Amino acid sequence: MSDTTPVEHLKEVRANIARAAADYGRDPSSVTLVAVSKTFPAEDIAPVLAAGQRIFGENYVQEAKAKWPALREAYPDAELHLIGPLQSNKAKEAVQLFDVIHTVDRPSLAEALAKEIAKQGRTPRLLVQVNTGEEPQKGGVAPAEVDAFIEACRTKYGLTIEGLMCIPPAEDPPSPHFALLNAIAKRNDLKVLSMGMSADYDAAIQMGATHVRVGSAIFGMRPKPAASSGEAG
Ligand SMILES: *Cc1c(COP(=O)(O)O)cnc(C)c1O
Repeated sequence: MSDTTPVEHLKEVRANIARAAADYGRDPSSVTLVAVSKTFPAEDIAPVLAAGQRIFGENYVQEAKAKWPALREAYPDAELHLIGPLQSNKAKEAVQLFDVIHTVDRPSLAEALAKEIAKQGRTPRLLVQVNTGEEPQKGGVAPAEVDAFIEACRTKYGLTIEGLMCIPPAEDPPSPHFALLNAIAKRNDLKVLSMGMSADYDAAIQMGATHVRVGSAIFGMRPKPAASSGEAG
């Protein structure tokens, strides 16, 4: 892998997604690739944009703010997704910067986002993160509380929730977590399912993922393991 480039990896991942969709009887266009560029500099991202990829995921507000304004000037149709935990005091910057936020997971954040959306007149699409493995160190709403939280987002905070996101525990087989997320989405009438990363996007597509978040399979290894539970920067 080290002698091939992110653009070559991108092509492989796209082919794998198309094949998985076909294998599972799904329309390949029903699965969106979110290329996760966290920790990689703009020089690494630009060729992937040039190769046609437009949807990217970042974990940290500050990092995205440093890297993306210039890239977006060159590619105004790029779409930026926040996939890392968000502190309420960064809601303002997140609403300014991101087109989709995958990590809505508590009332204080829902309230902060609602306030900023009203103030800025800019409306990122919102997903609720579910902590399907109930891991204490991970963000996300507990499965038992998620229906009530989605309802509160809709009625109390006036937010439109488009779907759900999860990060299964690293040591578990992922499919039961993906199935759980799918079931929660169905009973709440939600269409978007953000699930599957480099190691398990095939299984996620099988279980109905509409968005797969793929980082290392495109950009290569990061200096440290996936910061799935790290602080928003
Ligand atoms: C880092 C990260 C990814 C990408 O992980 P890879 O294993 O490198 O594909 C996806 N989702 C979230 C939430 C992440 O933090």
